[in-house]
Amino acid sequence: MSDPSEIRVCLPPEDATTPWTLSSYQERGGYQAWAEVLRNQTPREEIIETLKASGLRGRGGAGFPTGLKLSFMPRDAQGQKYIVCNSDESEPGTFKDRDILRFNPHQVIEGMALAGYAIGATVGFNYIRGEYYEPWQRFEAALAEARQAGLLGEDLKGSGIAFELHSQRGAGAYICGEETALLESLEGKKGLPRFKPPFPAQVGAFGKPTTINNTETLASIPPIIRNGAEWFSRIGVENSGGTKIYSVSGHVNRPGNYEVPMGIPFRDLLAMAGGVQDGRTLKAVIPGGSSVPVVPGDVIMECTMDYDGLSQVGSALGAGSVIVMDETTCMVEVLERISFFYFAESCGQCTPCREGTGWLYRMIRRIRTGEGTHEDLDRLKSVADRIEGRTICALGDAAAWPVQSFLKHFRHEFEAMIPRKDAA
Ligand code: SF4
Repeated sequence: MSDPSEIRVCLPPEDATTPWTLSSYQERGGYQAWAEVLRNQTPREEIIETLKASGLRGRGGAGFPTGLKLSFMPRDAQGQKYIVCNSDESEPGTFKDRDILRFNPHQVIEGMALAGYAIGATVGFNYIRGEYYEPWQRFEAALAEARQAGLLGEDLKGSGIAFELHSQRGAGAYICGEETALLESLEGKKGLPRFKPPFPAQVGAFGKPTTINNTETLASIPPIIRNGAEWFSRIGVENSGGTKIYSVSGHVNRPGNYEVPMGIPFRDLLAMAGGVQDGRTLKAVIPGGSSVPVVPGDVIMECTMDYDGLSQVGSALGAGSVIVMDETTCMVEVLERISFFYFAESCGQCTPCREGTGWLYRMIRRIRTGEGTHEDLDRLKSVADRIEGRTICALGDAAAWPVQSFLKHFRHEFEAMIPRKDAA
């Protein structure tokens, strides 16, 4: 039974038996918005303005306003344009897009069609994490159904409008979730992030203007167009409309995806996930995926889960991946694992990230194995500070932020692992 706080906008109703099929999606209003756009040839600007008014912000991590992002597509750009869905969900702690693709693939297709139409793109690509085999299968089956029903293809419903969609599976690199690395990979090259500018809206996939949005963001679009901007914005909080899927993992009794209004108090979300396991005390939470700063348990208990609420406590909403840690957690071990991840996933293009992530990992491992020094602690902070903001893509920041925040809040645990000089 779902919790009364749950409002399912991107996830299908819990009682739908085969929600991934076309018939089930249409029964709950699916493709109505797309059909109306095809019938009325809705002005593109109208869709963008509706999205701006809805307060929808990107759900992939950056939180950029979606309508504004779509409006960056140059009006006068001639030739092919693309809409790309980023389903390369790989940040430790994230698993929401997996469930959207598994259980509601048609809503992603409709969202891509509407966003594609709004920017004047006739072709879209969904780049799906390689390990997501079942979600990819479901998405492919949904594409076939949509084509069969005349919802994708040429001259849709006699409107003269064309829109075709393809899926592309990744090959297991975390960095391909970075939008320009994703575009490189989509083009069949190594997934190396590009220098910006130019931004994808000017030079994107195959050198053409491209807009890239996250899966949850695109899945939010059809209900907004169907029900109106006000309906969506009223669900959320000021500056951020709608629902958010929080992927709750770690030391909770009921880990899983919870779609709730943006701005829900953290303590309510924790209660929905069954509270902390075995009645233990909450120690800390990483609220947005492993790259965002950790927040001590007593601080986050007073916090709301939205962009502003988490920024006020020095963290970020990220992708809404909530990693809960109880009193038994060793924060040094957690940081060691996180640091190894970013070290292993660095593409190696820029020196601060390529070398710095390795230094961070090795210093933390040294401390964890009892071979660290107090100088290592200061050096850790110094290396993290020198990586932050000095790299081509955000992976550098993603490696630095956890180190800075773990040291800020839990330095005593690191110090406790450093052998005393006067010890025998
Ligand atoms: Fe590659 Fe890291 Fe530089 Fe990003 S920050 S381009 S992952 S080396």
